[in-house]
Amino acid sequence: MYCKNCGAQIDPGAAVCVKCGYKNGDGNRFCHHCGQELTEGAKVCLQCGFAQEPAQPTAAPADQKSKIAAGLLGIFLGVWGVHNFYLGYTKKAIVQVLLGTVGTVLCGVGPAVSSVWGLVEGIMILVDKINTDANGTPLGE
Ligand SMILES: [Zn+2]
Ligand SMILES: [Zn+2]
Repeated sequence: MYCKNCGAQIDPGAAVCVKCGYKNGDGNRFCHHCGQELTEGAKVCLQCGFAQEPAQPTAAPADQKSKIAAGLLGIFLGVWGVHNFYLGYTKKAIVQVLLGTVGTVLCGVGPAVSSVWGLVEGIMILVDKINTDANGTPLGE
């Protein structure tokens, strides 16, 4: 048995490839049976004739965030970066929360900057200019 991602020989009972960390059976670049490198999209291995199972269709991610919710959070609570916390853009969110709170000591410019920033991002989320969360998961409705 060979890793389908990197071609390393692996124990048939192994859960993951020790070389690349892919799940046993994941990947589509090498023959599971003989380790031969496959041509892209090959249905059978040219060397041993072993049929390659089709790649699993990627199921819709369970933790899909709502575009509407993120957009509205940006528009109404963007001054504290709430939409970025929601989407997992933590670093950006922390900058906005700092601007929105301690930024007040800078003659109130901080909250002005972060509320406009949040508003713009909220709109960008609603019009699909920002359409993934920090993990690259596409936003749902
Ligand atoms: Zn591997
Ligand atoms: Zn093969």
